[in-house]
Amino acid sequence: KPIIEMSHVTFRYGGTTAEGEQGPAALRNVSLRIGEGEFVGVIGPSGAGKSTLASVLSGAIPHHFRGELFGSTLVDGRDTCDVTLTDISRVVGSVLQDIDAQMVASVVEDELLFGLENFGVPHDQIEDCIARTLDTVGIASLRDREIATLSGGQKQKVAIAAILAMRPRVLVLDEPTAALDPASSALVFDTLRKVREEGVTVVVIEQKVALLSEYCDRILVMGEGSLVLDGTPREVFAHA
Ligand code: ADP
Ligand code: ADP
Repeated sequence: KPIIEMSHVTFRYGGTTAEGEQGPAALRNVSLRIGEGEFVGVIGPSGAGKSTLASVLSGAIPHHFRGELFGSTLVDGRDTCDVTLTDISRVVGSVLQDIDAQMVASVVEDELLFGLENFGVPHDQIEDCIARTLDTVGIASLRDREIATLSGGQKQKVAIAAILAMRPRVLVLDEPTAALDPASSALVFDTLRKVREEGVTVVVIEQKVALLSEYCDRILVMGEGSLVLDGTPREVFAHA
């Protein structure tokens, strides 16, 4: 049974242009299944619908963004239209493109603590959860640091840790390496590989073909709102 199943999803953002016309559909008839434990990369040009796809997987569409939505998206067997965003977030954790906007605390451990308290994790489990998560992500030594003093790669790992602490079964990331140099980018992907080894399904939007080829088992290529290719890196990049 797939952990995520999209069937014929079409989405057009709400609101109209000055001319009173609707923009083109951001997603057009997208169908896909993602199995538990897969490491999936999503690539495609700007405006292809990658972030919109991530918003569908994380339930932000339909719960946060309004618009015209057709088709269905099941997360762990439940239609995202029928459950709350809070319920979806217990299954799918997402690291947004703008991590500075997503993060709320000034010290690393507080960033994890905030989410866990919000999620209602019992206090006697919080310490263990924070320690284990920081360890998995490889930032145990940064626990007491001010987030503002960290490098881009370190901040990205804090954002990942804060979401992972809540034990989602799927982790969705929107261009986590966009602001990073090649070495830091590889370290973030090393972290994602480790996360996947712990059983978490990973879906990552990424532009760097070399990283996708090395780390992912499956690549989705988006173009003009459609899923244009879906296969192994070898299959997909042979077309490039
Ligand atoms: P990508 O992530 O591949 O760059 P997006 O999913 O961000 O693509 O965008 C797909 C299309 O949806 C684009 O035409 C974009 O302008 C439009 N779009 C994205 N976000 C919004 C939004 N919040 N409101 C209106 N239109 C949007
Ligand atoms: P629902 O429609 O399921 O009731 P809401 O839209 O009211 O969900 O949002 C529930 C919570 O999720 C709110 O605290 C909201 O701020 C937060 N939220 C909304 N959109 C997003 C998003 N794109 N990413 C992360 N959190 C979000």
